[in-house]
Amino acid sequence: MGREIHIFTLETIITVLDMRICESQIRCLFRQYNEDYFGSLLPMPFFKIRHSVNTLGYFSYMPDEVFGTTETLEISDFYAYTPNQLRDIIVHEMIHYYLYYIGEDVRLKHGKSFKRMARQLNHAYGLHVTPTIDLTKMKPRPDAPYFRRLIFKILS
Ligand SMILES: [Zn+2]
Repeated sequence: MGREIHIFTLETIITVLDMRICESQIRCLFRQYNEDYFGSLLPMPFFKIRHSVNTLGYFSYMPDEVFGTTETLEISDFYAYTPNQLRDIIVHEMIHYYLYYIGEDVRLKHGKSFKRMARQLNHAYGLHVTPTIDLTKMKPRPDAPYFRRLIFKILS
C-alpha cells in the first residue's frame, strides 16, 4: 500500500488556488502521480492548458510520423481548483492514459475498466476520482475572462 497523504508545499497551494495553472506544474504533478499510483509506467505525454468552461481535463492520442504516437493531456485553467480537485482531474485523465497504454480501453470510455480502476485508486489512496464532475460545484478563477464566466453562469 502506498502513501496516503500528499504533502503540498505552500508554494504549490498558492499556485493552485490563486494563479493560473501552467504546463510545467501539470508536468510536475503528473510525474508525482505516475510514481505514486501507476508505478511510473506511463511515458511523459505532452501537456496543454486549455481555457475550457465545460471540459476540465482531456486526454487524447494521435498517430505521429516522428514519435509513432503522441499523447496529450490537457487541463482547463478556467477553474480555481483546490489541490485535491486538480489531483483528481489529472488522475482521471491518467486512468484513461493507462487503460489506453496497456491496450485495455483505447476508446477512452468511462466503462467498467475505468470505474474499477478509479474505485481501486480511490480506496487505496483516498482519492475522489469520478467518471464525471458536476461543474456547478466548481468555482471559476476570479480572474477568469468575463466572457467565459458568463458562459459558466449560463451553463450552471
Ligand atoms: Zn474521462
